[in-house]
Amino acid sequence: MTPKQQEQLRRLPSITSLLEDASVKGLLDAFPRSLVVDALNRAIEGARCRITENDTAPDAGAIIDGAKAILDKQSAPSIRRVINATGVVLHTGLGRSPLSEAAVRAVTECASGYCNLELELESGARGRRVDHVASLLAEITGAEAATVVNNNAAATLMILNTVASGRCVIVSRGQLVEIGGSYRLPDMMRASGAQLCEVGTTNRTRITDYAKAIDENTAALMRVHTSNYRVVGFTQAAGIEELIQLARQHELPVIDDLGSGALFDLSEYGLGEEPNVRASINAGADLVCFSGDKILGGPQAGIIVGRKHWIERIERNPLMRTYRTGKMTLAALGATLQAYRDPDHAIANVASLAMMSASPESVKTKAETLHRLLVEKLPNEDFQVAKATSAVGGGSYPGRELATYCVTWQPKNTGLDEALKQLRTGTPPVVARAQRERILFDVRTIDEHDHEPLLDRITQCCT
Ligand SMILES: *Cc1c(COP(=O)(O)O)cnc(C)c1O
Repeated sequence: MTPKQQEQLRRLPSITSLLEDASVKGLLDAFPRSLVVDALNRAIEGARCRITENDTAPDAGAIIDGAKAILDKQSAPSIRRVINATGVVLHTGLGRSPLSEAAVRAVTECASGYCNLELELESGARGRRVDHVASLLAEITGAEAATVVNNNAAATLMILNTVASGRCVIVSRGQLVEIGGSYRLPDMMRASGAQLCEVGTTNRTRITDYAKAIDENTAALMRVHTSNYRVVGFTQAAGIEELIQLARQHELPVIDDLGSGALFDLSEYGLGEEPNVRASINAGADLVCFSGDKILGGPQAGIIVGRKHWIERIERNPLMRTYRTGKMTLAALGATLQAYRDPDHAIANVASLAMMSASPESVKTKAETLHRLLVEKLPNEDFQVAKATSAVGGGSYPGRELATYCVTWQPKNTGLDEALKQLRTGTPPVVARAQRERILFDVRTIDEHDHEPLLDRITQCCT
């Protein structure tokens, strides 16, 4: 070490003197003392390294700034709000469905204090948590009874374990789905203790295939909605009515895993292809399950509706305790379901339904507004409005694209990957995609309240 470096090291401020500094007082107001001391120690350590590496000695101000940066980084929440400019309404990586305002209010109210989660207020007796949503679910779907678990994977597992442990469930080979992440129906079936009995072929399964497979070990027939793919061309699948008719002859239950599951007929809103829960119940399915955070637009949850005696058996299953939902989920789900008592109210107020059903014209108007704001703010940058398509996402509407409008941007001074990274890593993070040398901001999923922060973030990328 050179004498100059030794001199610089001796001159570094002490913790005690830094703690007296006026700007550190501000940090002490914002963070516990122990954390401030720790951050200052790390900043001084960093200064020591710089002195020995390249002879530059930071002053007290620079050390304090370093400590502040360390504290800010440590205290920033890891999971936070992002601006979704992908146009994918149910983006699993971005938390699937945003909650409606009513659902957010309900969560805040129940979570910030105590709530009657398992208390019947009238009688003072112990209540059941799912009762807060069960009758609403029965009303909306036309089912005899309903219950709720943490997600649809858990719903499937609970149904299979209760109905078919140690016995066979017949499923078409065309419906052995894998959903992103680690959900594969055959694996789930094995984990539940049920045996999978595959019938038919990938593209064609007839009702006679099911009929031939039924024997004394059969516990149920199951239909699984092919949520994230479509089999097209020379295809055939048994309808739910046929399955139910066959099952009745053998006194077997029919399980219908809808995956997404629309709660009313969405065809009027241009979103008719997803199977409808009520239709399945009306046809006579014994147990129907679907996600709370796919088309329904609520919190992550798995919803099971169907025959009362089956729902009761599922609720008596000891495994049920491992999948039970928390108060925040039930509060959000209850508030979301309230909107479904009237379809027009649901379309307007359930955030994901509103985004999915937004007409191309209204999306275009939104894109033009954002475009105007950007051109005013950054006149030297190249922005355009362009027609594009986006997916609904989240295992819904496979192969279906929504006509949408984007504001596209070709950054003057930054490469596309670099700009996308800068957009992702600032506050709030912006998630967008690039296509043909331009960045696309799909306004379908951008709330108008986010225009200002988005403008700021794009401006940051240009400077
Ligand atoms: C999405 C989906 C699941 C899993 O649901 P999660 O709520 O994500 O656990 C299961 N089955 C089908 C058919 C699905 O589409």
